[in-house]
Amino acid sequence: TSQVTTVREAAPVLPQVKNIIAVASGKGGVGKSTTAVNLAVALSKLGAKVGLIDADISGPSIPTMFNVEGEQPAVKKVGDKNIIIPVEQYGVKMMSIGFLTPTDSAVVWRGPMASSALKQFISDVDWGELDYLLIDLPPGTSDIHLTMVQTVPVTGAVIVTTPQKVALADANKGISMFLQPQINVPVLGVIENMAYFTPEELPDNKYYLFGKEGGRKLAAKYEIPFLGEIPIVQSIRESGDTGYPAVMKEGLTEEAYMNLAEEVAR
Ligand code: ADP
Repeated sequence: TSQVTTVREAAPVLPQVKNIIAVASGKGGVGKSTTAVNLAVALSKLGAKVGLIDADISGPSIPTMFNVEGEQPAVKKVGDKNIIIPVEQYGVKMMSIGFLTPTDSAVVWRGPMASSALKQFISDVDWGELDYLLIDLPPGTSDIHLTMVQTVPVTGAVIVTTPQKVALADANKGISMFLQPQINVPVLGVIENMAYFTPEELPDNKYYLFGKEGGRKLAAKYEIPFLGEIPIVQSIRESGDTGYPAVMKEGLTEEAYMNLAEEVAR
């Protein structure tokens, strides 16, 4: 058969990685990266070996969310090949486009450059054995999505959305993309982020700022699992900014993310 087949058989992609999970959203700003970060730490807290690839070129925020901004991953030589050692924080190994560009610089990543960066993150990084490798994708549909499915066997995608109509419309498109025959990635389920807000002084009240149960209904429409909901919590935003993921602090938020991780690991 073709040479390509032979090469793949000789060197399967990431054989030591059990599950490759794409974290996707239709719209930007719905909390996809925040969810990916907390999910990664939550899976690690469950005892899994976890890696995280930040492939969101539109705003690589993962280094900030892990408080490893400006870090330079080490490189080792294996034969004549340079192998990158992922940065490790809070039990999660990670690689980000953010590590390759100076902080605050306005580097414009063209599609092909970003795609080749993703390929490098997959093939030239010493991930070792992992139970989960999460890939934080850019919002919407892009070259990166195609590169991903052409480069690695993706176990499945989780879709992050808010219950807002415009976010749901885009999440719809995202789900259809993964399910179309050329892509053919199973959708593991929908996560509803910013589902409601509960003021501290009114702990029994839920305010549905972005609408109610939109993510749940979206999952029902496609007959895919609803993985859970995360409320709007000030400390989730703050912990993203300070680089100490919310799931690491005991409380209701931790519980919500741990439940989510259990659903994803199911
Ligand atoms: P995306 O990756 O979809 O662009 P981000 O994860 O960067 O979105 O989140 C967008 C903004 O919303 C960030 O400021 C983040 O801190 C905040 N955020 C995300 N999820 C929540 C939440 N559940 N509660 C409060 N703030 C949130």
